[in-house]
Amino acid sequence: MSQIVYLNGQFLPIAEAKISVLDRGFIFGDGVYEVIPVYSRHPFRLAEHLRRLQASLESIRLPNPYPDTEWTTLITELIEKNATEDQSLYLHITRGVAPRDHAFPANTPVTVFMMSNPLITSTRAQCETGVAAISHADNRWGRCDIKAIALLPNVLLRQMAVDVGAVETVLFRDGFLTEGAASNIFAVKKGVLLAPPKDHHMLAGITYDLILELAEEHKIPVEVRKLTEARVRAADELWITSSTKEILPIIQLDGKPVGKGKPGEAFWQMYNLYQDYKQQVMRHASP
Ligand code: PMP
Repeated sequence: MSQIVYLNGQFLPIAEAKISVLDRGFIFGDGVYEVIPVYSRHPFRLAEHLRRLQASLESIRLPNPYPDTEWTTLITELIEKNATEDQSLYLHITRGVAPRDHAFPANTPVTVFMMSNPLITSTRAQCETGVAAISHADNRWGRCDIKAIALLPNVLLRQMAVDVGAVETVLFRDGFLTEGAASNIFAVKKGVLLAPPKDHHMLAGITYDLILELAEEHKIPVEVRKLTEARVRAADELWITSSTKEILPIIQLDGKPVGKGKPGEAFWQMYNLYQDYKQQVMRHASP
């Protein structure tokens, strides 16, 4: 089965999917996207992803091309047309094709692109070992809550980690934790789960929300509050969370051990709750 993608109303092999060089996504990075994990062919938290997509579109003043029912139909069809049971769905909408000019073009249809790739989550072995991260000043723009396709700062920040054999770059803005280059970051101190509050400086992760929901449901103490760099460095545990990485423990930050330098108790509790939640969703086939 070849990789089938969706482009502007058509399903077709990826090699046949073509867009104009004048697409504003290509020229300006003028668009938004979503990544939705699919487990056993069930899209995970689809309603939440579509809600965030709507919010991103509204923030950049782009009309949503489809109602949620239509998105659901198209997504279901794309999942069926691709081979693997677990997939990573990528949705991408740009302000369309127009002569190059910063101002919005009039009467220009948006470009809608979707693709599916095999889902590669963190492995159990990675969770058992834990991963290294580095830190850096958050030098991105002031609207990191929008899931914008213009990701150059995130690309550069993530590459800094890769260059030194780490998996993520933890970002601090004005002395406070914002998030990772491609993930949200949680801390744990004395059994309390600490999370930075949502604002314009971080993306409201679907995984972030789920972790807070699971913590509440299972009576894990939580504090959502701004976290200073010092608090993060003194944490017993640090976790990376995202739709594709799920939850991953950071055991080393900038070469220094986090807590005891191994995945902590709170991590394993949340890891198990997350895996159980996934199983439940798949059994009941409701995203
Ligand atoms: N922040 C950033 C900058 C991200 O790119 C991502 C997703 N890759 C996240 C947070 C996590 O969001 P989600 O849990 O919805 O994948």
